[in-house]
Amino acid sequence: MRVVVDQDLCGTSGQCVLTLPGTFCQREPDGVAEVCVATVPQALHAAVRLAASQCPVAAIRVIESDAGDDERASADPAPSPEEVERHAARDQRNPGGHDGTV
Ligand code: SF4
Repeated sequence: MRVVVDQDLCGTSGQCVLTLPGTFCQREPDGVAEVCVATVPQALHAAVRLAASQCPVAAIRVIESDAGDDERASADPAPSPEEVERHAARDQRNPGGHDGTV
């Protein structure tokens, strides 16, 4: 896993740095967040996904694969079991069709 911060979007709240100080840091002059590590250790994957989901301006992008040809980037965590179940129930009510929601 890799993680990047869109420094044009970062609102300098420092929330990610408080959550994971070894992974995120803030630039001295302006407080914009930076990533301090090249790759995220397995033990911190869930915490990084959480930090990304809690960024108030969605400036943190998580790249799940380290391989460049198989990148799946998202700031959103995987859907919860409840969301998966809700979508499945919706599909059963509307077989063969789509109601336009995602
Ligand atoms: S949580 Fe988001 S807005 Fe706040 S410092 Fe980190 S990247 Fe910037």
